[in-house]
Amino acid sequence: MYGPNHHGWIEVVVGPMYSGKSEELIRRLKRAEIAKQNVVVFKPSIDDRYCKKNVVSHNGSKIKAIDICKPQDIYKYINEDTQVIGVDEVQFFEEEIVGIIRDLADKGMRIIAAGLDMDFRGEPFGPTPKLMAIAEFVDKLSAVCMTCGNPAHRTQRLINGKPAKYSDPIVLIGATESYEARCRLHHEVPR
Ligand code: ADP
Repeated sequence: MYGPNHHGWIEVVVGPMYSGKSEELIRRLKRAEIAKQNVVVFKPSIDDRYCKKNVVSHNGSKIKAIDICKPQDIYKYINEDTQVIGVDEVQFFEEEIVGIIRDLADKGMRIIAAGLDMDFRGEPFGPTPKLMAIAEFVDKLSAVCMTCGNPAHRTQRLINGKPAKYSDPIVLIGATESYEARCRLHHEVPR
């Protein structure tokens, strides 16, 4: 508990892809488990990277997580003994997640949410900016720019190896898509 009185709060961990958000989330949650706290972890069912039942970081660390389709589902898996709640890929949840996280913190739980702060266009991503505003603690992590090696705060989307255009649809049938971390100078979003 961070304060002298036992009460809830919100921690948010943001950054581009590969900045270590999942790693940091897992690190904090594992420490809570070591402290014998009651921990429950959620992620949107949309993110099926590596394994459906775990939050897995790009360097292989993992923790058990529950896949949920909508923010309200969180209430089905927690009870009055729940002390710490982790949420990964929070940007993919509907706006409703903000009010639910606020409610859980108000009820005395510690919430740690990790997610992308910007989309591939460099614009605020889903509910993350609102969560950052209402959180007690925000950590903005950086990755390494794949072009120059400087700190990277943005996610470059590549379609068939070329920078995705601003107007390119989120789902592209038959195209090879990839993402890499880039700094402001090397982040390209052709109009
Ligand atoms: P996130 O959840 O932010 O996507 P992860 O926690 O899954 O990040 O992965 C972070 C790990 O990704 C780093 O510890 C490192 O091993 C690896 N990695 C791969 N590419 C990069 C990069 N461009 N910058 C920093 N780390 C990278």
